[in-house]
Amino acid sequence: MGLVSLEQMCKKAYENGYAVGQFNINNLEWTKAVLLTAEEQKSPVILGVSEGAAKYMTGYKVVVEMVKAMLESLKITVPVAIHLDHGTYEGAKLAIEAGFSSIMFDGSHYPIAENVEKTKELVALTRKLGLSIEAEVGSIGGEEDGVVGMGEVADPNECKSINDLGVTILAAGIGNIHGKYPANWQGLNFDVLQKIHDVTLGTPLVLHGGTGIPDDMVKKAISMGVSKINVNTECQLVFAEATRKYIEAGKDLEGKGFDPRKLLAPGVEAIKQSVRVKMALFGSVNKA
Ligand SMILES: [Zn+2]
Repeated sequence: MGLVSLEQMCKKAYENGYAVGQFNINNLEWTKAVLLTAEEQKSPVILGVSEGAAKYMTGYKVVVEMVKAMLESLKITVPVAIHLDHGTYEGAKLAIEAGFSSIMFDGSHYPIAENVEKTKELVALTRKLGLSIEAEVGSIGGEEDGVVGMGEVADPNECKSINDLGVTILAAGIGNIHGKYPANWQGLNFDVLQKIHDVTLGTPLVLHGGTGIPDDMVKKAISMGVSKINVNTECQLVFAEATRKYIEAGKDLEGKGFDPRKLLAPGVEAIKQSVRVKMALFGSVNKA
C-alpha cells in the first residue's frame, strides 16, 4: 500500500473509539523501527516529520522518497501516512510539493483571524489534492500565578472557528505539554475537551505531547473524540537510554561492537518496544 492521508484513518478511529499514533521520525533507523512495528501489530500509523527533522534529513523530498522506498522494500501492507508536524505556512506548501500525504499547519501563534485566513487557504489546497490537514488552535495560556502546571488550553469558541473551515483533524490544547511533564502538572482538562468536542462534533481531535500522560487519562481522552496522539519525546528518551547503556557497558569496545549496525541496534529495539506499548494503549492494534 502506498502513502495515505489521515482522512479515512482518523475517521475510522474516531468512529470506532481508538486513536492512531503519530510517531516522529528522525532518520532511517527511526523510520524502519516504526514501520516494522506497525506491520507487526497490524496497526495504521502516522510518521510525523517536523520541519527541523526534515532539514536534518536534508529535505522533504529525501524523507518522502525514503519512506516510499521502504514501504516497498519492507513489504508494508498497513496504512501509512507521512505528516508534516507543526508546519509553518511556507513549510506546509513545500511538504505538499515534495509528496507528503498530510500536513499540519500550526497557526496557533497568530491572532485568531490570521490563523483562520491561512488555515482556510491551506484547507482549500489540501482538499484539491486529496490530502489531509491538521490545524491547531492557540493556547489561552498554560500559566497561572507563574506556575506552568496547567499546560496548553484552547478556547472552544476559537476551536469552532477553525473547525468550521473544514479541517480534517483538529489539535487543541487540553492541558497537554510538549516534552517532559513537570511535577506540578494538573492533568488533562476534560471539561475543556468536552466543550471542544461539543462544538466540533464529527471532527477527530488530536492530542499532542503524548509522552508521560497517565494511561487512564489517555483512554478517557480517546473516548471523548481524540483519534490521533503524537508521540515524539518518548522514543528519543528510550533510544538515548539504550544507546548509553550499550556504551557504558563497554560493548562498543568488544569485537566489532563499534559497527553502527550493532551500536544503534539496542536503540532501535527500544523504539520498537515503545511503539508497541503505545499502539496497544491507543487501541490501534489489528485495526489496519
Ligand atoms: Zn505538537
